[in-house]
Amino acid sequence: MEQRKVVIIGSGPAAYTAAIYCSRAMLKPLVFEGFMSGAPGGQLMTTTDVENFPGFPEGITGPDMMQRMKQQAERFGTETYMEDVESIECSERPFIVRTGARMVHASCVIIATGANAKRLDIKGTRDGEFWQKGVSACAVCDGAMPLFRDRPLYVIGGGDSAVEEAMYLTRYASHVYIVHRRDELRASKIMADRAIEHPKITILWDSVVEEVKGDKVVSSVVIKNVKTEQKEEQPAAGVFFAVGHEPNTAFLHSQLELDENGYILLKQGSQMSSVEGIFAAGDVHDHVYRQAITAAGAGCRAAIEVERRLAALGLDK
Ligand code: NAP
Repeated sequence: MEQRKVVIIGSGPAAYTAAIYCSRAMLKPLVFEGFMSGAPGGQLMTTTDVENFPGFPEGITGPDMMQRMKQQAERFGTETYMEDVESIECSERPFIVRTGARMVHASCVIIATGANAKRLDIKGTRDGEFWQKGVSACAVCDGAMPLFRDRPLYVIGGGDSAVEEAMYLTRYASHVYIVHRRDELRASKIMADRAIEHPKITILWDSVVEEVKGDKVVSSVVIKNVKTEQKEEQPAAGVFFAVGHEPNTAFLHSQLELDENGYILLKQGSQMSSVEGIFAAGDVHDHVYRQAITAAGAGCRAAIEVERRLAALGLDK
């Protein structure tokens, strides 16, 4: 079985930053980037312009940023495999990391598997109904499809993602409606103002989508005002969920301590999980900040902690 000082699982800013630091520390990290679990590169692969990562005054696209981080990690000797990790045997020492294709012994593991967009259980949006037939959880991935051109589109949610998705969809839609369950956006002020001022965006306050209807593809939505209980059916070609995220921790089979929403719990002041030698970085543990820069920072911290742990155990040579 292959032996590694450190295996990193994931391919977003946390994973590649950890890989840059570990490879520069001569730890020869192996990165499992994922495959069926989502596009290598993580959520930034479905983000348009990243305008808040320091060092890019003109902005950079999410995919470009991830490509650069990966290249930087590889430059220092990181090896990457486009494979999904199916399990980690956390009770073994060294840990055993399994994919469909291989098993690796690892002295330390950094889990940076991120989080995925959530869906709501609304009539008409489920698999076998209109999911992927007008219903999506990623405007950037699906927004350019011909069925959405010059048609009314609906985004569910009130956070930065909802605003970002709505802004993106204005390129294609006749009009975009943000359906938000409250009377105030959760999005940052700058993003909220952009949505409120945009001529092609209308925010439907205190509202929820009660049902999505159609024939072969989506043709209408039933919107309910939660204060007045009034319902209205409106023409629609698309419905996009932007209601937050779910951490990718199912493959851990509860061997690490998780919070009630499945996020990995860390030891205070550290990136170490409840299992010594297994670390976490990025959106898989952080449901508060969830930014590329904070994920990268956590990846850096995890890598430095791995380096120190291996040195303390005499396993760094
Ligand atoms: P979020 O901030 O958690 O917002 C989720 C939204 O979905 C909230 O408005 C929430 O409503 C709504 N929601 C949740 N469950 C719902 C339900 N059952 N029914 C109806 N609505 C529901 O998630 P996010 O927008 O994905 O943002 C996540 C993080 O990424 C944030 O830190 C954000 O700042 C960041 N982000 C930044 C950018 C950027 O800077 N360009 C872009 C995207 C995301 P309530 O408000 O009522 O809870």
